[in-house]
Amino acid sequence: ASYRTEVWSDWCPGCGDFGILAAMQKAFAELNLDPAQTVVVSGIGCSSKTPHFINVNGVHTIHGRGIAFATGIKLANPQLKVIVNGGDGDLLGIGVAHFVALGRRNLDVTVLIHNNKVYGLTKGQASPTLRRGEKVKSLPVPNLQDAVNPIALAIASGYTFVARAYSLWVDHLKEILKAAINHKGSAVIDVLQPCVTYNDIYTAEFYKDRLYKLEDDPSWDPIVRDPSEDEEKKAAAIKKAEEWGTRIPVGVFYVNPLKDTYEERLAQRNPSYSIDNPPALQPISREDGSPIVGPDEFRKIF
Ligand code: SF4
Repeated sequence: ASYRTEVWSDWCPGCGDFGILAAMQKAFAELNLDPAQTVVVSGIGCSSKTPHFINVNGVHTIHGRGIAFATGIKLANPQLKVIVNGGDGDLLGIGVAHFVALGRRNLDVTVLIHNNKVYGLTKGQASPTLRRGEKVKSLPVPNLQDAVNPIALAIASGYTFVARAYSLWVDHLKEILKAAINHKGSAVIDVLQPCVTYNDIYTAEFYKDRLYKLEDDPSWDPIVRDPSEDEEKKAAAIKKAEEWGTRIPVGVFYVNPLKDTYEERLAQRNPSYSIDNPPALQPISREDGSPIVGPDEFRKIF
């Protein structure tokens, strides 16, 4: 399948979004994802235009609500591969409640944070990942608020696959994305990306000599292989995620493949919710179009 569309992109030349789009198209091709069984969901922002440029099912929703839509889509049909694209403002500002809720559920959805530390679409205001004291070119004064650390927040929320990548290292991001999509549970990749128009601090030049890959250290092992290791692996990942300065790590920080997913828990609670025969594929009444599984059955699930 070709995962490209003919839609013209109005991203600024040099924007990190292009690298993320290319990594997605390559990952989808290598995983041979069926476009009819794959859904890309986004909120609002430069990055949230991604569904227009990738040839699978796509929903461009409202600000901060990409994860909420993705949750409904995945619950209605858990057989779909569901991927969310959003900016750091969209996902960690406006949509942060949904971001936390997805981790708590461990629903099998993959989230890509396009992290450029500004609200690019609305002309460069400080987003939740811009650090205190930093002044990107649209700000009249330095930022007064502390930054949220997406890796630490994801681990604290319950995500079971947590990684960071860089938009200009397309093949590295592609490999992490393939692993995230194949992971059973909530996965997030914090993708550092230059906003060439509004962020004059976090440029390609800034990242060039600072980034290093976690996997180059043979002693780094982010995978939980026994529940007794979980606490220690989480603590090590959060400590590593605090490293930010002359050296910035990218790669996989934490993976826990042992935890059950939300859709598995739902199926256990109520036999009318089946992953093999999910609500979206169940028959509806020929008389009035209502679902065969009635509201009383659904009430039991929640
Ligand atoms: Fe990319 Fe920034 Fe341009 Fe938006 S404003 S398209 S984030 S470079």
